[in-house]
Amino acid sequence: MRDLRKGNRSRALWPVFLHGPLTRQEVGTLAGLSAATISNLMAALAAEGVVVEVGLEDSNGGRPRGLLQVNPDYGYVIGVDVGETAFLVELFDFGLHLRARHTSVTDMTVLDPDDAVSRIVKGIESVIAESGVDRRAVLGVGVAVPGLVEHGEDAVVYGQSVGWHAVPLEAMLRSRTGLPILVDNGAKTLGQAERWFGAARGTDNAVIVLLGIGVGTCIISNGEVYRGATSSAGEWGHTTVVVGGRTCRCGAEGCLEAYVGAGAIAARYEQLKRRRVATSPGELEGRIAAIIDAAGRDRAAARVLDETVTYLGTGIADLVNLFNPERVVVGGWLGNALSDELLPRIRAAAGRQALRLPFSRVQIVKADLGQDAVALGGATLPIARLLTAGAVADDHAGRRRIRSAVSPG
Ligand SMILES: [Zn+2]
Repeated sequence: MRDLRKGNRSRALWPVFLHGPLTRQEVGTLAGLSAATISNLMAALAAEGVVVEVGLEDSNGGRPRGLLQVNPDYGYVIGVDVGETAFLVELFDFGLHLRARHTSVTDMTVLDPDDAVSRIVKGIESVIAESGVDRRAVLGVGVAVPGLVEHGEDAVVYGQSVGWHAVPLEAMLRSRTGLPILVDNGAKTLGQAERWFGAARGTDNAVIVLLGIGVGTCIISNGEVYRGATSSAGEWGHTTVVVGGRTCRCGAEGCLEAYVGAGAIAARYEQLKRRRVATSPGELEGRIAAIIDAAGRDRAAARVLDETVTYLGTGIADLVNLFNPERVVVGGWLGNALSDELLPRIRAAAGRQALRLPFSRVQIVKADLGQDAVALGGATLPIARLLTAGAVADDHAGRRRIRSAVSPG
């Protein structure tokens, strides 16, 4: 009986979170629950401070109907983007409004795990202090990392390209912060953010592409993130586009990332210019912007972009043929930069390689959410866990204290 009630709370909370404000009738329709059940659930959730009534909907002369949404002050979540050029830590309220942000620039080709943990902890303490929220009201921290995340009892990270092997990041961060920690791959958190609020909204079959120094995807299949046996599915950057081609950071040859990753594009440009200029990770964003800007007057820049379009289009055609998505969303800082100038050409290149039927049904679009989407996606991890648990107090270590803070007694 308790499980049924928890399940019903979860079914009702998801639409209120994703689509609110909604009337009770709308919640009932979306959740597939009766009016009486919704009425009881919403009364309980409002009394606990999880949802709030935010006004009335006109109903053509009938009795006005109350609109419900999640209570932004029910609790707070923190999203962390462990990037290869910067660490971004953001604190949001329960309505995912940004309350505080902390950035620390890194410029490392290899990230030391202890250094990474110290930077993340510093960022977390900073956003809690800056926002002034009660630490006990922090529902959890979602950390997005550039690597594979194995979800055992505690999440362990394998970042082959950044020198991480079996880093117990969840346990390390929990012991340093005392907060609930969730860890996932950065492309997957980007995908979840774009699916909830961005360019992948409203589709159950999509591939969200993250382009930066690293290259990955989040594959949404039948409404679920496709993970594979050990959660590493989607490593599109390490699929082979040239047999025996350039050596990739992962050690293999001819990976897509060795052709369309930001470091690869910059290195190829310098090679065409016959220069030996090493670009540090922190300089790449400016360097790529300069190459795109120079394409009209610089033959080397035009050529490296032509090549990038071809390889990226080919990689997207592979995604279209393998997964038959309704939508491919191109994101990440590099994806955003390339899409602004080159998306029609990338689409055409994909069309030359993909099978006609799946290609005729796919939209290839730019991501909506911009530079912070990976951190925002991190913040969705503790929210998803809470919504799935139906915001039942016993499931969260800190919830009982918070609830008593919201409604004494
Ligand atoms: Zn590779």
